[in-house]
Amino acid sequence: MKESAKCQSCGMPLKKPEDRGTEKNLENSPMYCKHCYQEGEFIHKEITLEDMRTRVKQKCVEMGIPRWLAGLLTRNMHKLERWKPQ
Ligand SMILES: [Zn+2]
Repeated sequence: MKESAKCQSCGMPLKKPEDRGTEKNLENSPMYCKHCYQEGEFIHKEITLEDMRTRVKQKCVEMGIPRWLAGLLTRNMHKLERWKPQ
């Protein structure tokens, strides 16, 4: 599988291997970050797109990113693999 440059659940950039989550075999996930995905499963299984958007925006603001920019960064979240209609 091709490695994604950003988490396909929250949109976080996956610059370093250690930013990635893990698959069942503990190899790095090609798709998801460590905050979303561990050992082959989503950490927040029941989370909705809107909840994820809110969480990521909060995280951005905590990291000092202005609210308007956080809004821009999460605007296209619905296009990520996890949120695409099956
Ligand atoms: Zn993520």
